[in-house]
Formats: sequence, structure tokens, C-alpha cells
Amino acid sequence: MKAMIYHGERNILYESVPDPQLADDFGAVVKVDQCAICGSDLHLYHGVQAYDKPGFCIVHEFAGEIVEVGRAVNRFEVGDKVLASGLTGCSQCRQCLAGHIHLCENNKTACFGVVSSLPGGQAEGVAVPAADTTLLKIPDGITLTQAVLLTDILPTAYFGVKNADIKPGDTVAVVGLGPVGQLAIDCALIAGASQVYAIDQIPERLKAAELVGAEPIDARGDAVTSILDKTNGQGVDAAIEAVGLRATINTAMLCVRNGGVLSVVGTNLEADFPFRMDYAMSHNLTFRIGKCPVPEMWADLVPLVQAGKLSPERVVTHKLGLSEGEYAYEIFDARTDGVLKIMMDPGR
Ligand code: NAD
Ligand code: ZN
Repeated sequence: MKAMIYHGERNILYESVPDPQLADDFGAVVKVDQCAICGSDLHLYHGVQAYDKPGFCIVHEFAGEIVEVGRAVNRFEVGDKVLASGLTGCSQCRQCLAGHIHLCENNKTACFGVVSSLPGGQAEGVAVPAADTTLLKIPDGITLTQAVLLTDILPTAYFGVKNADIKPGDTVAVVGLGPVGQLAIDCALIAGASQVYAIDQIPERLKAAELVGAEPIDARGDAVTSILDKTNGQGVDAAIEAVGLRATINTAMLCVRNGGVLSVVGTNLEADFPFRMDYAMSHNLTFRIGKCPVPEMWADLVPLVQAGKLSPERVVTHKLGLSEGEYAYEIFDARTDGVLKIMMDPGR
């Protein structure tokens, strides 16, 4: 089959690789109908997340059709149209059965497409382990593109908002307006935010945020001072950080009022973040961070998308063939051509 294979920094190639094989009785094989590129893949593209030796298929965002299913899988059969949680577990332990696959007691929590042991979905097919708790039948009224957005980035945005404890009337800052930050704005508004300040340095992304009702703040200026000015010097009730850098986590922290909440979903790959204990203590700050437990978010998100209250597809700017994957990574990384989110079709 054809797949995008990660070979190292700025080296992700469209290649022929062996077809996926059913891993065990609990797994399934999915023919991919649509997949995406995630901001997380850029960390790999930049060579800063090399967990493993290169040579594996990348990406944790895909949806498609089951073509093979293990004997111990209870909830799915061949022919089912499904989306996959970007994060998988074992499907057998107490935590996985409760949907908390990020807490798998058998230490099987893993993300597709970042290690050779769990190849990802920028491919014609994927072997999915622990199918019963990793997959979801695409619900009625959910389009294929919406299904792909439910595999990771919409749940991550929603998780960031839940972790921010937003109450009706709250003021919120979102730092980083990639697809995750954009959808965090939408989710914050649904949670009842009265005002969302949206911070980034890319004009098109600021504009996109403004179009859904946020107030854009250009990060090339002093974003913290702007937010303090707009909140009577108090700061916002909650900030959601969707970049994953020391500088942006600091910005988000300094935007939050005394007693407020900072929720980080950006994947901070600069590992050693110097946490300001004195600042957190004196401001009674709550700081939350973590991997998104994707399946836990579906129960809230699916009805919101079905009802048209959330339209995550607004972030999709490009639909390309998988054979154009190398070009897709170039523009996604360079942020040219107005790109925000790219979907790819393995059939072309
Ligand atoms: P993205 O790379 O498309 O977006 C990042 C945005 O941050 C860009 O718009 C960029 O312009 C902006 N940015 C960079 N530096 C900035 C600065 N100094 N000030 C303001 N804005 C700045 O990524 P994405 O797909 O939106 O994902 C966002 C983050 O979420 C990534 O780090 C990704 O790895 C992470 N993520 C985490 C989880 C999780 O489970 N916690 C899941 C998915 C993605
Ligand atoms: Zn992702």
C-alpha cells in the first residue's frame, strides 16, 4: 500500500510499504478514507520528537472502513465506517473499559504514528489495536471530515476547555490559533465564555478567530499588556495554551487573573519548563496539562457536531491526495497558502 513514511527531520516521503496486518484477536484493520496532518506531526517534522528509529507511517488522525476484524472484538464488524481515537490503550483493563485509555493499566497507552510499533493513518490502511475501545462507528449526521476532526483535535480543544473550568460569563484567552486553538475558541464560547481573546502572530489565523466571535490579539505585540488593559488590569478567568512552548505557556500564565486557571494542551517538547512556583502560589493559580482522553470527549462532542452547534470543519483549508503528501507537509510547515488544516485522501 501507499503511505507517508517518516524518515527524520523534514523527510516524510510518499512510499510503498507492506499492507497492515491484524495485530491480534483484539485488533482490526481499517481502510483509510480520509486522514489529516496534525500540528503534533510538525514536532516530528522538525526532528524534535524522535521517540524511535525512523521508517514508520505517521499520523494519528484517520477515519475509514473496517476490512478485517479480530475474533475477540465485540463492537465492530467488517464494513463498519469508523473513526479512531488518536490515542489507544489495551481495551481490556478497568481504565480502558471506562474510556480512560490515557490511563491504561497495562501500559498500552500509545499514540498512532509516532513509533514504529504503532504505525499511523497517513496510509491506505492501518492496523488498529484494541479496536473495541479505540474505534467509534461514525455516528449518523457526522461527515467523513468531521469524523477525522473527532479523532484528536476537536477532543483536544474541548479537553483544554474542560480543564479550564470555564463558567458562563467568564473571560478566556486562547494562546496559539492553529486548528486546536481555533476549536478551543469554539468550545469556550459553547461553554459560556463572554469574551475570548485569541492570540497568534499569523494574520489569517487571527482573522479566522475574529470571524467566530473572538477578539484577536497579535502576538507580535505585547499580548499580556493588551489583555490586562482589556480586563481592568485583572487578567482573564482562564487561559488555554495550544502551542507548547515555554514562551507561550508563560504568556498564558501572565494573562490569568488571581485564582484563575491555566490549561495547557500544547505539547511542550522543551521538556524542562521552569515553573514559576512563587508566581503560581501568590496568584492562587490552577495549572492543568495532559494527553487528551479522546473517547471520553465523544459523548459531549458528537451531539454538538450533529446539532450544528460545533462545525469543526471550518478549520479545513486544504483537501489533497495522499500522493501530494510531501507538498502538504511543506505548506503546513511553512504556513503558506493560507493553510490551517489539511485533509488527505489516500485514494488519490
Ligand atoms: P499548529 O502548529 O497548527 O498551531 C500552533 C499555533 O501556534 C500556530 O498558529 C502558531 O502561529 C502559533 N504560535 C507559535 N508561536 C507562537 C507565539 N509565540 N505566540 C502566539 N502564537 C504562536 O498546531 P495545532 O495542530 O493547532 O496543535 C497545537 C498544539 O497542540 C501542538 O503542540 C500539538 O502537538 C498539541 N496537541 C496536543 C494534544 C494533547 O493531547 N494534549 C493533542 C493534539 C495536539
Ligand atoms: Zn493530532
